[in-house]
Amino acid sequence: MIPQTTLEKLRSVVGKENVLDSPEDKIAYSYDGTPLLQQLPDAAIIPRSVDHISQILRLANEEGFAVVPRGSGSGLSGGSIPVDNSVVLLMNHWNRILEIDQKNLTVWVEPGVITANLHSTVEALGLLYPPDPGSAAICSIGGNVAENAGGLRGLKYGVTKNYVLGLEVVLPNGDVVVTGGKSMKDVAGYSLKDFLIGSEGTLGIITRVLLRLIPKPQASRTMLAYFDKMSDAAETVSDIIAAKITPAALEFLDNTTIRCVEEYAKLGLPTHVESLLLIEVDGRKAEVEEDGEKVVGLCKKHHSLDVRVAATEQEAIQLRTARKAAFSALARVRPTTILEDATVPRSEVASMLERIKSISSKYNLTFGNFGHAGDGNLHPTCLTDERDKDEIDRAMRAIEEIFLEAVRFGGTITGEHGVGLAKRKFLEQTMSEPALEMMRKIKDALDPNRVLNPGKIFKLRPRCEGPMPTNREQIKKFLEMGAYT
Ligand SMILES: Cc1cc2nc3c(=O)[nH]c(=O)nc-3n(C[C@H](O)[C@H](O)[C@H](O)COP(=O)(O)OP(=O)(O)OC[C@H]3O[C@@H](n4cnc5c(N)ncnc54)[C@H](O)[C@@H]3O)c2cc1C
Repeated sequence: MIPQTTLEKLRSVVGKENVLDSPEDKIAYSYDGTPLLQQLPDAAIIPRSVDHISQILRLANEEGFAVVPRGSGSGLSGGSIPVDNSVVLLMNHWNRILEIDQKNLTVWVEPGVITANLHSTVEALGLLYPPDPGSAAICSIGGNVAENAGGLRGLKYGVTKNYVLGLEVVLPNGDVVVTGGKSMKDVAGYSLKDFLIGSEGTLGIITRVLLRLIPKPQASRTMLAYFDKMSDAAETVSDIIAAKITPAALEFLDNTTIRCVEEYAKLGLPTHVESLLLIEVDGRKAEVEEDGEKVVGLCKKHHSLDVRVAATEQEAIQLRTARKAAFSALARVRPTTILEDATVPRSEVASMLERIKSISSKYNLTFGNFGHAGDGNLHPTCLTDERDKDEIDRAMRAIEEIFLEAVRFGGTITGEHGVGLAKRKFLEQTMSEPALEMMRKIKDALDPNRVLNPGKIFKLRPRCEGPMPTNREQIKKFLEMGAYT
């Protein structure tokens, strides 16, 4: 519990109206988008300047409390959930687009800018900020940088880190660092910005972000293709890539997800099909027409039952809804929705989905699967009820098995949602000890008093419970031993 005397000092830094510590405020900032995780903070603080943040962090070091940065709280790995003795730092109030530079194609933003607001602002100028998380309407740029968020356009355009040119960050000791800039090339010293991207609020508080923009593509074509077999959809994905076409979006839904989306959004989707691909090609008009026709041909070659091609932008928005509504549609089915993001090499998507299917029936659970087929980034989503302890226990074991399988296929436990609190146990199981030690040393060097989002990504001290496989061979053996049966 943070003493009242310390809260008084915080009030004198930011003003008493910016320290929120009523019971309602504490509940409001006790959770994010991650199910099953919640903890009350001692207070939520709204800093109004970079200097406020420096002072808060210096006070945290002197008085021994933790600071948890928070953007929109849409994270799915518990990154902004309070820890013991902590205040939550609300960065969503920092929501100004500061400068759009059309000569250098850059934009300076504050971290609380909502991603979709940045999209619409720059698109009105004929520009594009490509990273497009499914949560774009609610998540913040600061949260995107801290998680290195991906999204629907990741296959062609990359993820957040590919667009961050510079950052202003307050370090755990209160020092302010500006790293990067408008130069497209910069190899002076360690690339500090790359080191901070994806650090999940554990190494610094982002106060300004310089992003790269690109010209908005001239044209696009959006399609939905339906398949009776998941393997046909997977073959189509491989053939599109082999044909040297890189779609802006190449997304899939499985049958459970299609049925839920149709019930929720009434888009006229066929509910009997095993799989659906959302494919979008963009670029110059002639190129889009040519690629669009090739894609339709490849879908047909792999026994697609039908390919719906949007004739207007309005129709394209409707087809994209099939994918964008996936999470919301699944979340209506049961009270607790556990959305994961196991990721495998693209060529292993169909085999991984088969494994998820058999793991889900082994544990008698319902999973809906959707995700970024082109990136191999799957979102197996367990539909469950946290009041049923036995079901939750089975869900946890199933998810653990799914992660180990993903690693066995040469993939990873998270493609875009980060580790946070929810996956740190798995990080410890799947990453080698020297690599973990390197991360702990970086954290200790920058934050020796562990004031900034402590305990996220990895436990502060290594703790081994039970067998801990550290490489693919051991994981394989582990599974063969039936350690999870
Ligand atoms: C329906 C839905 C769909 C989603 N789809 C996607 C998707 O397609 N791709 C994807 O990558 N993610 C997706 N997400 C996950 C989530 O939206 C992203 O991780 C997003 O980047 C989080 O942003 P946020 O502003 O909500 O951050 P928060 O949840 O508030 O915080 C996330 C992390 O960032 C840190 N942080 C926040 N602001 C700062 C700051 N200013 N300085 C330092 N650290 C900070 C926090 O401490 C925390 O560790 C989805 C979530 C939902 C609910």
